[in-house]
Amino acid sequence: MTDPTTPSSHGVPAAPPTGPASGRDDLTTLTAAGARRLLDAREVSAVEVTEAHLARIAAVDDRVRAYIEVTAGVARGQAEAADARIARGEAAPLTGIPVALKDVLCTTDAPTTAASRILAGYRSPYDATAVARLRAAGAIFLGKANTDEFAMGSSTENSAFFPTHNPWDLGRVPGGSSGGPAAAVAAGEAIAGIGSDTSGSIRQPAGFCGVVGLKPTYGRVSRYGLIAFASSLDQVGPFTRSVEDAALVMGAMAGHDPLDATTVDLPVPQFRPEAEADLRGVRVGVAAEYTVEGMEPGVKAAVDAAIAGLEALGAELVPISLPHTEYALPTYYITAPAEASANLARFDGIRFGNVVEGATLRETYERTRGEGFGPEVKRRIMLGTYALSSGYYDAYYVKAQKVRTLIKRDFDLAFETVDVIACPTSPTVAFGIGARTDDPYQMYLADVFTIPANMSGIPGLALPCGFSGGMPVSLQLLAKPFDEASLFRVGHAYEQSQGWHLRHPDLGLA
Ligand code: GLN
Repeated sequence: MTDPTTPSSHGVPAAPPTGPASGRDDLTTLTAAGARRLLDAREVSAVEVTEAHLARIAAVDDRVRAYIEVTAGVARGQAEAADARIARGEAAPLTGIPVALKDVLCTTDAPTTAASRILAGYRSPYDATAVARLRAAGAIFLGKANTDEFAMGSSTENSAFFPTHNPWDLGRVPGGSSGGPAAAVAAGEAIAGIGSDTSGSIRQPAGFCGVVGLKPTYGRVSRYGLIAFASSLDQVGPFTRSVEDAALVMGAMAGHDPLDATTVDLPVPQFRPEAEADLRGVRVGVAAEYTVEGMEPGVKAAVDAAIAGLEALGAELVPISLPHTEYALPTYYITAPAEASANLARFDGIRFGNVVEGATLRETYERTRGEGFGPEVKRRIMLGTYALSSGYYDAYYVKAQKVRTLIKRDFDLAFETVDVIACPTSPTVAFGIGARTDDPYQMYLADVFTIPANMSGIPGLALPCGFSGGMPVSLQLLAKPFDEASLFRVGHAYEQSQGWHLRHPDLGLA
């Protein structure tokens, strides 16, 4: 069998796997759909699936460090309840499926920290809507997964607690900000993960860790109980081991929520395997703007091969232009910090989390925030406050909003002639731990291909499409607002034709 993790000498990824998925083949390599079949056939119990994942966490998480808090007690209680529900014949698609929750999602039965000292030990009095819906579906909560502090970062190195390591190479980052749930799904420490994506924080770590990640359309999943970073850009979405699983998690989590006025009342797209067999009649846009300087040759080769793979399945490739792409990154770094500076004003030591007392109220605020926030969060608050201050507001913030409209218009025009757009998720594979921490601009560049979807509200799916130098490469598919169904269709057809998603890192424990 050809090992696809070993690139051939000319930098083109080797052929996809033809044999068994990996040496490791147990309950912790299952997809949610696969686990569902076993659970419904009573071949395994939810307790067994949960214990297998807790054992895997015990075996590898001291090296991967995907979790801030493992909630074994919660998970065991939920697993017993799930088995009882299955026995009653009342199972929902996610009943008994273990998930990892990014620690920016409020949960009642574990602390919610946003990986920040300012919230260390904080316990929410309510569940985020996404969490409440998964709970109602009977999903199992294995724990709260690591993230960059307040979801600000591209490597999970900005966590106030510890960095997470990439399961494919422990010396590398898992991406970020949702590096915890991405690494957990890749390492067999959860069947699915839930993250948030403000400019790539689901898709980029999914790509770096070789799993599927979906940023839904803005308004598709409730943000109620998601600790807000940039409210006009944030979306909650899944990490999974297959495209079908991403649709399953969306089915449980998405939809209108009276507690989030930006959610829309539209039916959640269902996954229809019968419609996903080939891609005849699908128009796939390929934009010249999605090749940038500094792009890794192995990444470009794998993505080009993936796009050729779509054509081989019957899709028609259509050249398109998205001329404002290059302005997405600077526009994001005005818009997101501006919104963050307002959203993070609430962390004052009085209402939430930790307080560092001072002699006066003002000093209490200053000491709490001064000691509670890490350097990247402070950088964002200062950038945002500056961009919103009188005299600069028009020059920076208002200008950025105008450019944002132009970026959105590029997509509106493109989607008049294509159904989906195919491009890389990131310009490189996962980089080394510490390699970019001294250079924020290099760190920000990791999101260059993922930001435009947030700026325009459209959905984006990241899925494995090969390897470069032994590290996973990811294909990104974009579609028009609320057309996740096209992403599922194209993504599933590609995934099934290639089999890249069947590879798992073994962490030396195969
Ligand atoms: N790298 C982005 C940032 O630091 C990630 C944001 C996100 O999607 N949460 O802002």
